Amino acid sequence: MNSKIRAIEKRIKEYKTIVIARHVGPDPDAIASQIALRDAIKLRFPSKEVYAVGTPVNKFKSYGNLDKIEDGKLSDALLIVLDCPNIVRIDGVDINNYKEIIKIDHHPFEDKMGTIEWIDTNSSSTCEMITEFLISARYRANKAIAENLFLGVVADSDRFLLSSAKTLELMAVLIKNSKIDISEIYPRLYLRPLNEVRFQAYITEHLNVTKNGFASLRIDKKIIEKYGVDAGTASNLVNNFNHIQEIICWALVSYDEKLKLFKVNIRSRGPVINEVASKHNGGGHAKASGARIKDSKDIEKLFNDLDLECKKYKEDQKKLK
Ligand code: AMP
Repeated sequence: MNSKIRAIEKRIKEYKTIVIARHVGPDPDAIASQIALRDAIKLRFPSKEVYAVGTPVNKFKSYGNLDKIEDGKLSDALLIVLDCPNIVRIDGVDINNYKEIIKIDHHPFEDKMGTIEWIDTNSSSTCEMITEFLISARYRANKAIAENLFLGVVADSDRFLLSSAKTLELMAVLIKNSKIDISEIYPRLYLRPLNEVRFQAYITEHLNVTKNGFASLRIDKKIIEKYGVDAGTASNLVNNFNHIQEIICWALVSYDEKLKLFKVNIRSRGPVINEVASKHNGGGHAKASGARIKDSKDIEKLFNDLDLECKKYKEDQKKLK
C-alpha cells in the first residue's frame, strides 16, 4: 500500500462526517469517482455520514444520486476533493468550511488545498486511483460501485487508449472481484441518438483545418437548436475527432448560456496544450484541456496560439527524423 493511501485510509477511519466534492461541469470520471467512493465508504462504515456533492447533471443520473448539504454546517467534517486540481473549480463547497481536506487527482498539480494531496498524473483517471485505493485498503466494491469505477476509467482513458499496464491490471481485479458484465454497461457510455450522430457529421463537415494541423469550430445556438442537442453535447463530442490524419490538435467552442461564457474543449494527439490553455483562463492535461472565455475576440487568440503550437510540434518532429 502506498503511503498516501495509508494516510487517506487513516483519515477516513477517524472522521464521522465526510463530504466528497469534484469539479464543476463534471464528466463521467468526476461523477463516478465521487459516487463510488461515497458508496464504498458507506459499505465499509455504515454509521458514517458520507455525502457526494455538487450540481446534479441529468445525463449522469444512472451513476447514482448526489447529496444536498448545508455547506458551512459540517465544520467537523473531512472534505475529499476528487478530480479537481484548482480551488476555483470545486463545485458546491467552500473549502474553508472543513476541518481537514484531502485531494485525490490525476491532473497536474495546481493549487495546494489538502493536508494530504495524492496526485498521480500517470493514472488514466480519478476512478483508476479510487479503484487502487479500494483494492489496496481492502474496501469492498459492490456491483454499482465497480460499474461506476469501470465507466469512469473507460471514459477518461478514451476506452483504454490512454491507459497503462497498471490501469488494465486494476480493471482486471475490479471486474473479477465484483463480477460485473462489461458488455452490459458499455451502452451507458456509447449508445447515442441519431440526432447526435447527425450533429457530429455537421461538425466534421464544417471543421476549419489549418495547414499546421489545427482544427476548430465555433458552434452557435442556431445549430444546436437545429440538431436538437444541448451545448454539453458539443463539448462531449470533442473526443470523437481523434485519429484523423490531417489533424493533430482540435478545439470546439460552444456558448454556456448560464455562465455567459464560451466553453472551449481542446484535444491533441501531438502538441502539449495545457500550458496554452492556462494562458487563456483554462488548463487540464497535456493532451486534453479546456478553457472558459468571456470575450468572443479572445477565442481567435487562443486558436492562434494552438495553431502555433501545432507548427512548432511539426517542426520538432521533422528535426527528429
Ligand atoms: P473538457 O474538455 O471539459 O473535458 O476538459 C478537459 C480537461 O481540461 C479536464 O481535465 C478539465 O479538468 C480541464 N479543464 C477544462 N476547462 C478548464 C478550465 N476552465 N480551467 C482549468 N482546467 C480546465
